Amino acid sequence: MLERRKKYIFDETGLEFRQVNYPLKVRLLRFIFWFVVSLTVSSVYILVFKLIFGSPKEKYLATEIQKLKLSYSLLERRFEESYSMVEYLKKEDEMRYRPVLQMDSIPSMYRNPGFGGVDHYSQYNGLYNSDLIINAHRNLDLLKNMIKVQEESFSEIEERKDEWKRENEHLPKISPVDVSIPLGEGIKFREHHPVLGTARWHYGQDFLTPYGTEVYATGSGTVVAAGWNNEGFGYHVIIDHGYGFRTIYAHLSKIDVSVGLNVKRGDRIGLSGNSGISSGPHLHYQIDYNGKHQNPLWFFSNDLTSEEYREMIMTLNSKSKFRK
Ligand SMILES: [Zn+2]
Repeated sequence: MLERRKKYIFDETGLEFRQVNYPLKVRLLRFIFWFVVSLTVSSVYILVFKLIFGSPKEKYLATEIQKLKLSYSLLERRFEESYSMVEYLKKEDEMRYRPVLQMDSIPSMYRNPGFGGVDHYSQYNGLYNSDLIINAHRNLDLLKNMIKVQEESFSEIEERKDEWKRENEHLPKISPVDVSIPLGEGIKFREHHPVLGTARWHYGQDFLTPYGTEVYATGSGTVVAAGWNNEGFGYHVIIDHGYGFRTIYAHLSKIDVSVGLNVKRGDRIGLSGNSGISSGPHLHYQIDYNGKHQNPLWFFSNDLTSEEYREMIMTLNSKSKFRK
């Protein structure tokens, strides 16, 4: 046990040293006083030092924060770039693809769902730079959703595009004979049938073809009739194009196809003639949609030259696997 430091005073009356004993309370108070003083002095010293120089760790952290803030703002810029790229795709989607393919636009509710307001990001509240972190998360969620919607939209468009392409190939959209061949009678009610002499509807468009003119399928489809018809068509071909469409090619002199054959637009199906009930060599061309007779002239434009028509038929034939 440490012996307490003793204090002595000189007693002049007794000419001797006498030991002084301070009471415990005083000793305790002195101790507390010095303790507090030293604590205060050292605290003040540390504080002043930090104020002037900052601790190395703090300095390091401050630099780190500056760096992080910088890279965050770079990230933000990259986010903006990505955002405008997706925005561009979105615009293409809404302004070009969907209108052309006759698709509805995506409801804005689905495109901009809004992310759960306050609660969704509450876990990041109270952190140092909370607003930066929350903003980054919100931006990423926004971008993620935009990309997801766009991805789904494009696969929908892709499907519709394939379907549209198929439909486009199948509908009867060209002239069945060279465009230089003059038109005969169109679809109409005729008071006097040229052969029968009785009043009767004319359900198609006639082309005044010289005997033996090449006749082409006007759209892809399946041959459902190829042969003689007693009702007046003579040698004729009927193609079912799907989508409710059928085309009839009548009064032929030669038939190149047989029932069940799949033909493509531009395939030669036969040669024109004068068979059946006909007043002279011509092609009777008929388009029926769900059994109703259509005006064939509405289904193709006649603005091609003869050369362009032949070129088109050659191009179509080069793609076709069907050969005569
Ligand atoms: Zn006719």
